[in-house]
Amino acid sequence: MINIGSCTDFMKLPIYLDAMSTTPVDPGVLEAMLPYFLTHFGNASGRFHAFGRYASDADELAREQVAHIIGAQKEEIVFTSGATESINLALRGVANTYSKKGKHIITCATEHKAVLDTCRHLEQEGFTVTYLPVSTEGHLDLEELKSSITSETILLSFMYANNETGVIFPVAEIGAIAKEKNILFFCDATQAVGKIPVNVLNDGIDLLALSAHKMYGPKGVGALYIRRKNPRVSIKPIITGGGQERGIRSGTLNVPGIVGLGKAAELCRQRMEQERGSISLLRNDLENELVQLGCTVNGDRFHRLPQITNCTFKPLNSTALVASFAPHLAVSSGSACSEESHEPSHVLTAMGLTANEAKRSVRFALTRFTTPDEIEDAKQIIRKIVNDLS
Ligand SMILES: *Cc1c(COP(=O)(O)O)cnc(C)c1O
Repeated sequence: MINIGSCTDFMKLPIYLDAMSTTPVDPGVLEAMLPYFLTHFGNASGRFHAFGRYASDADELAREQVAHIIGAQKEEIVFTSGATESINLALRGVANTYSKKGKHIITCATEHKAVLDTCRHLEQEGFTVTYLPVSTEGHLDLEELKSSITSETILLSFMYANNETGVIFPVAEIGAIAKEKNILFFCDATQAVGKIPVNVLNDGIDLLALSAHKMYGPKGVGALYIRRKNPRVSIKPIITGGGQERGIRSGTLNVPGIVGLGKAAELCRQRMEQERGSISLLRNDLENELVQLGCTVNGDRFHRLPQITNCTFKPLNSTALVASFAPHLAVSSGSACSEESHEPSHVLTAMGLTANEAKRSVRFALTRFTTPDEIEDAKQIIRKIVNDLS
């Protein structure tokens, strides 16, 4: 039974539909991690005794699991504290190492703040950054991309799938353009890895960022893929010290976190095909209801991740809308980052929405644990809220 407008069930948690912000840890992932806290707590850098060997073996397995899900080799994986660090390492690392070749970077207006903000910092250090616009569907114009490449361009930075709309970029085409022009291609694939097939060779990706907590792993751990062949990419570190991760990222490895990331990747790889189907059915069911309530769907509905729908509600009080959802549905308007700054979503405004429309937009994103019952309840809750506010 849903009980809208009453505070008697305040201890009951809202239905979780905010999977682009983070996902719960899968029980299988937690189970894999647990021994590495109490029993096998050794430092993965030393193999002199059994504690170190257990940790180091676990690290190697996780490296293979992470490499496997993106079609890479384990020597090409660097573990980090998450996608934000991976993005910083990729962008700053390439900028610092390749600046003699040129100082121009091309990215897109709808990238994650971790990319956009790092690019702003690089601009202060003398780099030039082109921020390409997108269409109303959230897509890049590949001709425009080609014509913005100059002899100074060293890096293209484009995400695989957008964290607010789920729109999937034509990554293989971008990779081919980068190859042809002899420019490096960094891809923030944080939302794509584990949800749809990603392959660094087919997609022509030279560096790739991913994060455990977007794919049912723990928070605070991620990886950067750095290509070792055709071309061999070498980047300078931003964190120096004990020389772990071949000197690219110093610091004692977060073994339980890395084990969790590896296991999360493994589970996603095994379940991806089945989950893509089952999650998109539930998403479509919810989306049909939203459309019936007068919502418009933001972004290309075909080239899109299976678990998300981003909708603009018809004109009504946007503050009241978001506030009415909060006790019942854990959803977000725009990214967690833009919520903090109370700005309308930079992604939706880049797609041509007005600030007011962006504020009336809500992102609903399902996890692998979302049930048909939860979607039924969510539909009723949304219908009631929209009727009350209309
Ligand atoms: C969540 C997210 C990030 C940041 O990842 P963290 O691991 O939380 O630092 C970067 N890019 C995209 C597309 C994301 O969704």
